[in-house]
Amino acid sequence: MLMAPVNFALPKRCAGCGHISGADGNFCIRCWSQLDILPDEGCQLCNQPVALAGSICGPCLDEPPKHDGVLAAVDYSDTARDLALKLKYGRKPGVADVMAALMVRHARRYPDAVLVPIPLHRWRIWNRGFNQSLLIARSVARLTGQKVLPSPILRTKRTSPLGGLSRTARGREVRGAFTMDPAQIGAIKGRPVLLVDDVYTTGATTNACAGVLKRAGAQKVHILCWARVLKEGA
Ligand SMILES: [Zn+2]
Ligand SMILES: [Zn+2]
Repeated sequence: MLMAPVNFALPKRCAGCGHISGADGNFCIRCWSQLDILPDEGCQLCNQPVALAGSICGPCLDEPPKHDGVLAAVDYSDTARDLALKLKYGRKPGVADVMAALMVRHARRYPDAVLVPIPLHRWRIWNRGFNQSLLIARSVARLTGQKVLPSPILRTKRTSPLGGLSRTARGREVRGAFTMDPAQIGAIKGRPVLLVDDVYTTGATTNACAGVLKRAGAQKVHILCWARVLKEGA
């Protein structure tokens, strides 16, 4: 006798809290209301809120970043953080699709861009089994049709955690930590690039990677991330 499919009508669960949401969306109303979708206007380069939309903020004027702008889906709220942790440690790759759904709005502004994930150090990939930024990049690409280059940037040294270090010390820590895979320069040269990250915090790592891509001839490098921490010094 044939068994009826048991998962025929599983209730929809919220991607944030896991409670049955009953709705067609990915989040329950409570989690959805906690997600702070970031507006497009902010500092032209880092997207931090500024008094005059489209201007450049003080820190970016002092020390212009190597990238051409940060495109973040949401502010780093509790819900945004929980989702990032779920993807990173919870072995729930489906979470990447939920993030990507809110990131495509930004990705579609650069239809010809190549998606490049922030590289993890090899030992971290061995530990965890995957690079969460690559999972996100692949989910975005499934929606936009953009090309993903899984690992054009190589880590050449193991960096210490950057939290707690000053801006200068962070810059020093990541200096020389990345290099371009010579075999993949051709895929980057003259192309716009979206550097994909889960959570954008200090920007030291992404900035170093953007520098590597620019030296390899990338036309523009924007940071495409799920969430970003808006408070300076965090
Ligand atoms: Zn929820
Ligand atoms: Zn700025």
